[in-house]
Amino acid sequence: MAKVSKKPLRKNLIKELDIVFSQFIRLRYAKNEIAECVTCGKKDHWKKLQNGHFMSRANYSTRWNEDNCQVQCMGCNVFKQGEQYKYSLYLGNKLSEELYIKSKEIVKFADVELIDMIDYYKQKVNILLKFS
Ligand SMILES: [Zn+2]
Repeated sequence: MAKVSKKPLRKNLIKELDIVFSQFIRLRYAKNEIAECVTCGKKDHWKKLQNGHFMSRANYSTRWNEDNCQVQCMGCNVFKQGEQYKYSLYLGNKLSEELYIKSKEIVKFADVELIDMIDYYKQKVNILLKFS
């Protein structure tokens, strides 16, 4: 019997985009592979840090937004539920408010848009990996 993937394609696309987008966020400002948590300043290898969302990743309109996503350590992102207040201090009032409003928008990305974003961020990550 042929193996049939249980997950629909769309879920896989979202998962793949989450992975490559997270790599991009953690690599974009890394120096010598070291990145810094925006809410506590902890520095570590980018692979040991996380992509922390200011507005929850449950909001698709800001899930892959380059301002809404910044480097966080596991302590801040997971154990301190994202440190949203400190995060807003990092972003500043204007951007925090813009992201708050944007996060309430209902968007549905088409599969082709997800594929385009995956390709776009894969290219960016490949370049960053060469120069980090
Ligand atoms: Zn932290």
